[in-house]
Amino acid sequence: MVIEYSKLRFPKELVFFTSLKQEMALLVNPELGTYATFELKYLGVLQACENGMYKDMSEVDNLFSTLIIRRVIYYGAFEPTINEYVPPIPQSLYWETTHGCSLRCEYCYMSADTILPGELTTAEAVSLIDQAAELGIQDFMFTGGEPLIRKDIFELGKYAKNKGLVSQLITNSTLITSSQIAKQVSESFEYVTTSLDGATPWANDVHRGSGSFDKIVKGIRSLNAVGVMRWTPSYRQQSEVS
Ligand code: SF4
Repeated sequence: MVIEYSKLRFPKELVFFTSLKQEMALLVNPELGTYATFELKYLGVLQACENGMYKDMSEVDNLFSTLIIRRVIYYGAFEPTINEYVPPIPQSLYWETTHGCSLRCEYCYMSADTILPGELTTAEAVSLIDQAAELGIQDFMFTGGEPLIRKDIFELGKYAKNKGLVSQLITNSTLITSSQIAKQVSESFEYVTTSLDGATPWANDVHRGSGSFDKIVKGIRSLNAVGVMRWTPSYRQQSEVS
């Protein structure tokens, strides 16, 4: 390859690293993430060339050939395609609405029990929903603790829906104690997720507390009665489904 030096073009920025011990240089083109190594003695030649001070460079043809082929520097009509990095937008946002919970499951990942000071106020929660919608989030999950402990939960669920988010509730269902509450849940959320650890009180209550099976089943039945009906058994539960 015979190089016409007038056709050389340099990226906006070149970064180099040197090893005096090994007498080598590493040249990086951050625009394309390309790089090449070469003998340190050629670094001065390269810098002179970059500054337009080149004259007879024929002795470094091989170096320039390598740099051109590896796209560390550009030649002739070559135009690099530079893709600007755009961070991906998360699809879902899980908001732990409260630390308070009506159950004390032994495996609880957050050891939920009582409402903590400093939990988001209604106005702060509205602002969170606004920010999520503005960011392009699709699924807004209200989780906890137990979200139904919050007095403003239905207002916030509806607000998220009206902002175009898929408003979803993750609840243990124990506080769905009437058809009115179930109706409010169905009107405020597009999806409801609840969990039952087994098909018998024994299988569930051993981990989630005595009496929780009956409360959860009652809550699920209330939801079913108002049209919230999706049932996904877990692997462990499948053997208990007839
Ligand atoms: S229902 Fe959920 S948040 Fe409440 S104690 Fe059980 S695992 Fe924790």
